[in-house]
Amino acid sequence: MATPIKQVVIVGGGTAGWMSAASLIKYAQGKNLNITLIESTDIGTVGVGEATIPSIVQFNHQIGLDELNFIKATQATFKLGIQFEQWTTHKDAFFHPFSDYGLAVNNIPFHHYLNKLRHANIETELSDYSFSTVLAQENRFAQPHANPNTPLADYSYAYHFDAGLYANLLKQHATSQGVHHIDAKIEQVNCSTVTGFIESVTLTDGSQIKADLFVDCTGFKGILIEETLNTGYEDWSEWLLCDKAIAVQSQLVDSPAPYTRAIAHANGWQWRIPLQHRMGNGYIYASQFEQDDVAMDNMLTNITGDPSNQPKHFQFKPGRRKQIWNKNCFAIGLSSGFLEPIESTSISLIQSAITKLLEFFPDSDFNQHDISEVNRLHNAELEHIRDFIILHYKLSNRQDSEFWRYCQSMAIPETLAHKIALFESRGHIVLHEKESFEAASWLTMYNGFGVQPKRYDPRADAIDNEVLLQNLKQMQRSIRQAASQASSHQDFIFAHCKADN
Ligand code: FAD
Repeated sequence: MATPIKQVVIVGGGTAGWMSAASLIKYAQGKNLNITLIESTDIGTVGVGEATIPSIVQFNHQIGLDELNFIKATQATFKLGIQFEQWTTHKDAFFHPFSDYGLAVNNIPFHHYLNKLRHANIETELSDYSFSTVLAQENRFAQPHANPNTPLADYSYAYHFDAGLYANLLKQHATSQGVHHIDAKIEQVNCSTVTGFIESVTLTDGSQIKADLFVDCTGFKGILIEETLNTGYEDWSEWLLCDKAIAVQSQLVDSPAPYTRAIAHANGWQWRIPLQHRMGNGYIYASQFEQDDVAMDNMLTNITGDPSNQPKHFQFKPGRRKQIWNKNCFAIGLSSGFLEPIESTSISLIQSAITKLLEFFPDSDFNQHDISEVNRLHNAELEHIRDFIILHYKLSNRQDSEFWRYCQSMAIPETLAHKIALFESRGHIVLHEKESFEAASWLTMYNGFGVQPKRYDPRADAIDNEVLLQNLKQMQRSIRQAASQASSHQDFIFAHCKADN
């Protein structure tokens, strides 16, 4: 008979390890379940991963972090979306907001009406109907309002934060709730010769730590899930060519913007993530098209403020671990796979892996149906994100390098080709189970990259163009008016959550 498991060991003390620890210790309340986290501070963490998506707000709330204290402790700023610059020759820039556009009328999505107007040669600007885009353009910030009848209610936000400070905060939080913390290097992982399950890990001092369930948060290496269990990795570099990154911090020269900037270059792109005390910069590139020294030059000549640390180099293989749950090992974070950070999805994937672990938390029998379902759900989620990221490269019309020309001509997954074809036909946006990005995000990309439907949805004929234009004017006015009531992002931080130094 299956009995409850009693010991969980998390290996790794980066963002993934401490997010897992904080969640598991909450889950363990009232149960006979011990949580131990082993990390080697000598090895250290990846030290990047500072832009998030809105699900992080919910995560912090669930584990019991006070929002304003969290912001102060991690030098965080607010994030309303991502500004894409130079990704296409159609526009200098477009904004991917964490909000919807306009309002659906008669259950017909808003964009179908704009599409209808375009077919009548009446041009409109999609971004005018996104409250968070307007807020971002004006460098303002406000928290969503409780009153659903104002544009101030209908949007989400996320954060930029210092990854090291966030891990420290989670560590304090998790250990104060009862997580047992060991700072030591794991030298060996020991498996049962009968079942192949992991039985214990051996530390440098020779001591062995046993557990029923092991959570592998050891970063790219995947010491348990891969080096020990040989789970396998699915490589997606045929579609996602960027495989190297350089990150450097610099002094802040302006007040922090409430959004991430993603600036395209000839062979990759650059991020700017503003925190309260510094700017986080990074440069992601395809090493088959750009040498490391050229990439370094490109990055350093495109940052604002003096660099304040030594640049750090990263190499990665875009893709996923074939199973995030294998036997009694659950991989969370970089050990489970990695997709480049263009849409800041890694931390949200940590969160969603934790949610699945808690939902399907095993007994001693480790039910194979539970394991298969978690792997199925995770794989679907990652494939949708993969497709969304490939879209950024496939749809660009930049012709200035071999890299961009290759991206435009490459074959893409059938799932993505189908979605693009549906939109091109008459503006339909299809979403599948476990999609991280909603219709508004797909619409942003299609519109930003200049993809326009060949026809419009005839259901939009239900509203006359004149009436439509009047409604649009009214909508724009109320969005502008509501945005003008918000304070500047900087003033909001100073008033509510300024870090101590
Ligand atoms: P790590 O931080 O690498 O932690 C691994 C842990 O395992 C460490 O504590 C280490 O000490 C421990 N460990 C390893 N070996 C041993 C051993 N033998 N014994 C004991 N302990 C061991 N994500 C986002 O959401 N937004 C972003 O903007 C973003 N930007 C990124 C930019 C780059 C260039 C990269 C590479 C990643 C980015 N990510 C981003 C991803 C994000 O950084 C990670 O998802 C996040 O930091 C989690 O990392 P981790 O905890 O899995 O691994």
